[in-house]
Amino acid sequence: MSTEIRRDAAELIAYARGQSARPGAACGPACEEALLRLEAYLDGELPDVEVTVVADHLTACFPCTDRASFEQALRDIIRRSCAEQAPPGLLERVRLRLEQA
Ligand SMILES: [Zn+2]
Repeated sequence: MSTEIRRDAAELIAYARGQSARPGAACGPACEEALLRLEAYLDGELPDVEVTVVADHLTACFPCTDRASFEQALRDIIRRSCAEQAPPGLLERVRLRLEQA
């Protein structure tokens, strides 16, 4: 994992710890509905009509916008971590070990 990704992950963890001290993110039925759909919304897997509902809610609700930003940042870190290339020779060393096992 690169230094940049480690730093971003550490910042995100510190942010999440700060968030846990706040009142619950789901502050009402509209928030609960939005948060139930948040993952699908961020993954682009929500039907258009529901995208509008979630997007409108995020525009009007700071706690849910904050939660969505956190989830998006987490997704970005995971995606960047998965995009890193293995060090040269690692694949061959693993293959040799597996053959020796
Ligand atoms: Zn909300």
